[in-house]
Amino acid sequence: MGARILVVEDERSIRSFIITNLKRNGFEVLEAERGHEALRLVKLEKPDLVLLDIKLPDLDGFQICKEISSSYPEISVIMLTALGQDLDKVKGLELGADDYIIKPFNPMVLIARIKAILRRTNKKIQKEVCTGPFRVDLEAQSIYKNDVLLEFTPREFCLMKVFINNINKALSRDEILNLVWGEDFIGDPKTVDVHIRRLREKIEDNPSKPQYIETLWGRGYLWRKGD
Ligand code: CA
Repeated sequence: MGARILVVEDERSIRSFIITNLKRNGFEVLEAERGHEALRLVKLEKPDLVLLDIKLPDLDGFQICKEISSSYPEISVIMLTALGQDLDKVKGLELGADDYIIKPFNPMVLIARIKAILRRTNKKIQKEVCTGPFRVDLEAQSIYKNDVLLEFTPREFCLMKVFINNINKALSRDEILNLVWGEDFIGDPKTVDVHIRRLREKIEDNPSKPQYIETLWGRGYLWRKGD
């Protein structure tokens, strides 16, 4: 599994051009056309690096960059900018971006810059995430507790992944609904409670006294790092 890269670009032709080149170089690719979708994928999937266009239909790329670097400093960001587009701001890189590239660019340059950043941050490409007694294999989509494989539905796995990728961060029901069920899902936030209850039955030693997924009254849930 190569590094996972999120491509945020609203222009379809540029996006597919970038994606083709990334895949050719063995990267795993996620894509977003809009800013909100990009932030959703950052929280849900924790990519290793984000290629971020500045002018997007819903959110400003600078705003997204700021949010990524404050909440997920371990994720690298390369800003994609058109010539003359807020270049001063990009050059300052005060927003936490690691680098910038001016469009149009040579794909070989893009790949080289990505590799340089991944080398510099010495990123270990994570195939699995371990916390407490749990080992989550992201590739095989399986979860072990004390090396025993647990049975999960795809939805439950996704819910577990949201928690594992956001340890010690409070998540509201709406946020969880958005992350796990998608932005277009219209449903009762209580759906979340039902699924959390099922998840607890699988992962907690004592589901009525949860040790891992904590309920924050009136606010949502939080995976408390217990080790
Ligand atoms: Ca754009």
